[in-house]
Amino acid sequence: MDDVTLEGLLEEDRLFAPSTEFVSNALVVDGTFAADADFESFWAAQATELLDWDVDFHTVLEWKHPFAKWFLGGKLNVSYNCLDRHVISGHGDQVAFHWEGEPGDSRVISYTEMLAEVCRTANSLKSLGVEKGDRVAIYMGMVPELAVAMLACARIGAVHSVVFGGFTADSLRARINDAEAKVLITGDGAWRRGGIVELKAIADDAMSGTPAIEKCLVLRRTGHDGVAMIDGRDVWWHDLVPSQSDECVPESMDAEDLLFLLYTSGTTGSPKGIMHTTGGYLTQVAFTHKYVFDLHPETDVFWCTADCGWVTGHSYIVYGPLANRATSVMYEGTPDFPDKDRFWQIIEKYKVTTLYTAPTAIRTFMKWGSEYPAGHDLSSLRLLGSVGEPINPEAWVWYFENIGGSRCPVVDTWWQTETGAIMVSPLPGKTVAKPGSATFPLPGIGADIVGDDGEPVGIPGGGYLVLTHPWPSMLRGVWGDPQRYIDTYWSRFDKKYFAGDGAKRDGEGYFWLLGRVDDIMLVAGHNISTTEVESALVSHPAVAEAAVVGKTHETTGQAIAAFVTLRSGYEASQELVAELRAHVAEQIGPIAKPQSVLFTDDLPKTRSGKIMRRLLRNVAEDESLGDTTTLADPNVVAGIKALYAADATDDDA
Ligand code: ATP
Ligand code: MG
Repeated sequence: MDDVTLEGLLEEDRLFAPSTEFVSNALVVDGTFAADADFESFWAAQATELLDWDVDFHTVLEWKHPFAKWFLGGKLNVSYNCLDRHVISGHGDQVAFHWEGEPGDSRVISYTEMLAEVCRTANSLKSLGVEKGDRVAIYMGMVPELAVAMLACARIGAVHSVVFGGFTADSLRARINDAEAKVLITGDGAWRRGGIVELKAIADDAMSGTPAIEKCLVLRRTGHDGVAMIDGRDVWWHDLVPSQSDECVPESMDAEDLLFLLYTSGTTGSPKGIMHTTGGYLTQVAFTHKYVFDLHPETDVFWCTADCGWVTGHSYIVYGPLANRATSVMYEGTPDFPDKDRFWQIIEKYKVTTLYTAPTAIRTFMKWGSEYPAGHDLSSLRLLGSVGEPINPEAWVWYFENIGGSRCPVVDTWWQTETGAIMVSPLPGKTVAKPGSATFPLPGIGADIVGDDGEPVGIPGGGYLVLTHPWPSMLRGVWGDPQRYIDTYWSRFDKKYFAGDGAKRDGEGYFWLLGRVDDIMLVAGHNISTTEVESALVSHPAVAEAAVVGKTHETTGQAIAAFVTLRSGYEASQELVAELRAHVAEQIGPIAKPQSVLFTDDLPKTRSGKIMRRLLRNVAEDESLGDTTTLADPNVVAGIKALYAADATDDDA
């Protein structure tokens, strides 16, 4: 950031304390966790309390910078902790998943049923030659068998690598080859907005160049004709799994054995194969799921709307909720099929108490209008969560009011694929929230904000978010590329983990995430965060979503180019451009006023729904578009490029 601190210009003084009703029943209130506990003892206590160990660990942490090992000597099995122990304690009939299929079909799956299916699948994988330590790639839609496949791998000590079911054959092939997976689990197809995504055909294309793959297990989901099966390689799930024994002794794994590989979203560069291990990962996902979501397993219905292709699905659809014996909703489809009220219909149907979704979804709901949620009974909700990007304060307030009925605390959770679990977040019965702030690091976590010199900037102050000591669910490396692990996370600052995100702390010590360090703009000597300018734009009633980037400018170094999506009922016009520029100037200051504003129906996003500013920068600089393979829809950015070239709203006034 060129030796200038991040400004942190946007002010926010609205405070939201949890209601007395919420506090009266909350797991964490003021004073629940001793503030002065050292982090190693803290996590040791959580590991012992939250998990069942076959063999107790003898050492909490071995830290040979930057390589950590947690819970040394400990042995456990993740699937045992997620399933068997709940059945043994008499909760086998409890619902693990209310699964809602896209076409409206549904299944109710108890812990007992989940365990039996996981055992059959684990035995199937063994029969296909999978052994402890082997990698298994999973490329499926959001069906229960995806969670089953993950847990079946965990049961026998195989390492899963889930690849999001929306990826192309090239992306799948690259991930299979990087991990050298031996088996691929897929489906004949997946439902998407009433159509079929031909998973098997895509997988076949991918497997045309994957020398390590020996077998492919195929679930029949869509049942369409013409699915080709290759003799000797491909096996139907229904031909193999049901005939297997429903008992499978869980493999007792070392706490540091690899549990899974997962590739990051690819927002900033080529995806990294992040390595997560067994004991530390499960400890922290169980801890965070329980306390951040204030889980009451007897009464809560938890719904995380992520896809299992991303870390959020791993940690908060599968491992955290199951370790804590939660009842969850799992949904196969999209928010707008068959209609734009699908989420609200599901919440009403299952009486969901806890909803965990992403800012991209919330801004889309804002764009569609509040009549969709208003048409449903959402009174079962008691807690809301957000993850994936900074949440603009106005989107936070919209979520709080229109979805949470102004009654539910909102937890804005900051974390990454690399951190494995939530790191910075409110604790809903304790923290007084500010819209747009992830508030404070969780107990046991060390986070700080440093300047270019690596020194803490203090309070208030802005700079780079760092993690100051190891945490149990931290990544153990980048698969096949140890140097990239050191270079990406541990080289920028001495002995501190560099998260890649800009952040500030306000006068009261609240953390505010300000966007990717790579995206920060330098205007006339001031470092300006993309998030703050976007949030200022979104605070205008006409705006649903905004992305801003810096483009070269001869006098100011960079000028701000804004790309704006309007809420339904508003029209693009030159007057609105002027109004938005004035609005930003008033909210943050004239320095942050966008030089240009372009209205667009959509923004370029990764397949996980994050805005990809790098490509908008290419557009603004009139450069050719770089790698677009991680985009959900490459047409969007191509359309914006054409619009931008034709647009005349550039105005230096
Ligand atoms: P890549 O690392 O390949 O570029 P990615 O960073 O998008 O992809 P993820 O691990 O899925 O991959 O995303 C983590 C990032 O998402 C964080 O570093 C941060 O930029 C953003 N993020 C997640 N949650 C929040 C949040 N609550 N507030 C602000 N930013 C968030
Ligand atoms: Mg990242």
